[in-house]
Amino acid sequence: MDIEEIKYKIFAYLTEEFCILEEQNKDNKETSQNFSEKFLKLKELEERCKKCTKCTLYKDALNLVFSDGDYNSSLVFVGEAPGEEEDKQGKPFVGRAGKLLTMVLEEFGMPRERVYICNVLKHRPPGNRNPLPEEIAVCTPYLIEQLSILKPKLVVTLGNFSTKFLLNSNEGVSRLRGVVRKSPLGYNVLPTYHPAAVLRNMNHIEEFKNDIKKALNYIKSGESIE
Ligand code: URA
Repeated sequence: MDIEEIKYKIFAYLTEEFCILEEQNKDNKETSQNFSEKFLKLKELEERCKKCTKCTLYKDALNLVFSDGDYNSSLVFVGEAPGEEEDKQGKPFVGRAGKLLTMVLEEFGMPRERVYICNVLKHRPPGNRNPLPEEIAVCTPYLIEQLSILKPKLVVTLGNFSTKFLLNSNEGVSRLRGVVRKSPLGYNVLPTYHPAAVLRNMNHIEEFKNDIKKALNYIKSGESIE
């Protein structure tokens, strides 16, 4: 057993213990069990992603970039792929684009830690090139599994790659953004610009902010498009 596995087992054990204690203290037994189960399932999926060799990206990547934030959040953001800073830190959206996302969330009173953030690809494409179709094909089953564990109320897709994948559409994000749409996978999806695209063209900042505000109102209001 290597050190990572030992750390994971201790962490998982402590989380179970914590959830059992929570359970004893609260009436809401089912919720505590679900949280613990969710955590363990996500951790197991993350371990599988770490060992994944289905494409070549793992060879040059420094770290797996699986997720950041609160796995119990009803709001999930899905970007494209880790960049240089994300690869270094092993966390999504911690570079310049991530700072913009964090800033806009905070402007509307939502700390970044309270949402869940992940990407279509879990390893960095070299030189930040676009994801290749074959990389998307082998990595998206992990995203599908991740979302099926999270069961978010709303998924905000950041940019073309996550939008096209989750809506199974060839339309670009500029046509689809700003409206909550039903994904063939059953999720409510609100597409918006990728924050890196907003940084390249600040004319989009107001639309981007409006979309984030809409997402936050959506999860608060219990609004549904069904
Ligand atoms: N761009 C993305 O799509 N994801 C990240 O994690 C960082 C930049």
